Amino acid sequence: MWAGLEILSTYTSETDARIDMARLESAGLIVRLATDNCGGMRPHFDLDRGVRLLVAPQDLEAARELLKPAPPDSSHWTCAACGTQGEPGFDACWQCGRPRG
Ligand SMILES: [Zn+2]
Repeated sequence: MWAGLEILSTYTSETDARIDMARLESAGLIVRLATDNCGGMRPHFDLDRGVRLLVAPQDLEAARELLKPAPPDSSHWTCAACGTQGEPGFDACWQCGRPRG
């Protein structure tokens, strides 16, 4: 079941790898986690060799796209209810509480 899989990314911590793995799996991709830490008996091997996330070659592009950090929200907006200028990164008007439209 490992044959033909491509290394998507290498991590120094299994936790970080599992976070990305969960994001990809929730998007429907098949992901495999590969560690050389002997089932946790040699955790320092993770630092030496890394924890690898593997995906099928046809999923590689989609997986990279999914793991891209979201661009920062830099757009100002105007509240449709009271006309107050909303700050980037906020989802509701600070003046009247109306959700950003
Ligand atoms: Zn408002």
